[in-house]
Amino acid sequence: MTWEERWHPLREEWVIVAAHRQDRPWSGETVVNGRPDLPGYASDCYLCPGNVRVSGKQNDIYKGTYVFDNDHPCVGEDAPTQLIKPAGPYRNQSARGIARVVCYSPRHNLTLAELEVFEIENLLRAWQEQYVDLSGRPEINHVLIFENKGEAVGVSNPHPHCQIYATNFVFKTIETEARVSEGYLADKGRVLFQDILKAEIDDGRRIICETDSAIAFMPYFARYAYEVYVAPKQTHSSIATLAEIELREFASTLKCLLVKLDNLWRMPFPYVMTLHQSPANGIDHKGFHFHVEIHPPLRRPNLLKYLAGPEIGGGNFLSDTAPEEKAAELRSVEL
Ligand SMILES: [Zn+2]
Ligand SMILES: [Zn+2]
Repeated sequence: MTWEERWHPLREEWVIVAAHRQDRPWSGETVVNGRPDLPGYASDCYLCPGNVRVSGKQNDIYKGTYVFDNDHPCVGEDAPTQLIKPAGPYRNQSARGIARVVCYSPRHNLTLAELEVFEIENLLRAWQEQYVDLSGRPEINHVLIFENKGEAVGVSNPHPHCQIYATNFVFKTIETEARVSEGYLADKGRVLFQDILKAEIDDGRRIICETDSAIAFMPYFARYAYEVYVAPKQTHSSIATLAEIELREFASTLKCLLVKLDNLWRMPFPYVMTLHQSPANGIDHKGFHFHVEIHPPLRRPNLLKYLAGPEIGGGNFLSDTAPEEKAAELRSVEL
């Protein structure tokens, strides 16, 4: 039974692993509800091909991935620029930026895990194009690409899609990772994430899927049960510079991982998936290693990991499970 504190080198914080308490009584629901049969096209879905969105704009009759500007952007070119200066230590700035939506497929009832590898590869190319386009703009300092999947993370529309927030500030997690990675490179002359990969490959127990150029693993310092990272083995500061073969193997590795997650409890596995790419603030981030982080909110079927005192109150995670055990579960799942 694992009971210790583990250092999260990318966030520079401790994670308490208290897996010895797993036999505690609990009263969560265990019933697994499969996804109700969904149609391939839904006339009331704002993401399906040809449908008209609330803004009055009509989606193209698209066949593959489809990108459009978010109709309800949290950051946008229309955000007010004339702001009232706050008093004292407070600061504000205009919420300018670009928010977009990327549909993965015209099919309403598919998930990322269910797409063919070549379709995932096309999605990766769309992400590359978006990153290059948005990160090249002077007013943009960061491009956050993320997918919220499942009602457990508040998504009611099953149409497979992700969002892009291109902002004038760098999101906190990325800012931390970038600072830590540059410091590590300066100190040791090595890329931190390469040392993480080496440690994971040497240990082997937490690797879920692997090809020559891509790897999916549950990190030693995982904060969530079933938290997994997918990364190219070569260091790229963003997805933009991945070569064809790297894209293909990244796609197949991501699919392998997502299918295992779905098959684990035979349900569409909810998650928040985020691309961690270097800030686009004009600085060369040589120590930053692009990766995808997947944070599933469930500890068991239908049992949410509640963020409470340690996480919300204190800012550090308390994990009830050891990554080695959770990784072993995923490793043994049939594809
Ligand atoms: Zn749809
Ligand atoms: Zn990261």
